Amino acid sequence: MAAYVSPIKAGLACRCPACGEGPVFKSFLEMAPRCPACGADFSKADAADGPAFFVMFLLAILIMPPVLLVQIVFAPPVWVHVILWGPLIVLLGAWLLRPFKSLMFALQWKHNAEEVRWNDSDGSAS
Ligand SMILES: [Zn+2]
Repeated sequence: MAAYVSPIKAGLACRCPACGEGPVFKSFLEMAPRCPACGADFSKADAADGPAFFVMFLLAILIMPPVLLVQIVFAPPVWVHVILWGPLIVLLGAWLLRPFKSLMFALQWKHNAEEVRWNDSDGSAS
């Protein structure tokens, strides 16, 4: 039996949730088809827009206090806010998206989560 791999550690490190060794990405945000270390099949990986939602939510919480502080203390024109926070939000978002996507995939892997499908015969979710 394989050693236990923490989905949190493997996810945040962008490593395979099965073995904790192989990378889950083959490019910046594209999932590899399988783990190069253990051969785990990543073809059903589908985090959808969950990682983007959580990254936006986290960034809103992190960015708003300094934005409000700068506005209250300095009262700069709007273009100063755009120049200050626009690039910061884009860079932080890009930096956080990979580990969040990998983390959501690792949690889906750990809990055997699958996309909900409707059963045609009785209309109930299966
Ligand atoms: Zn692996």
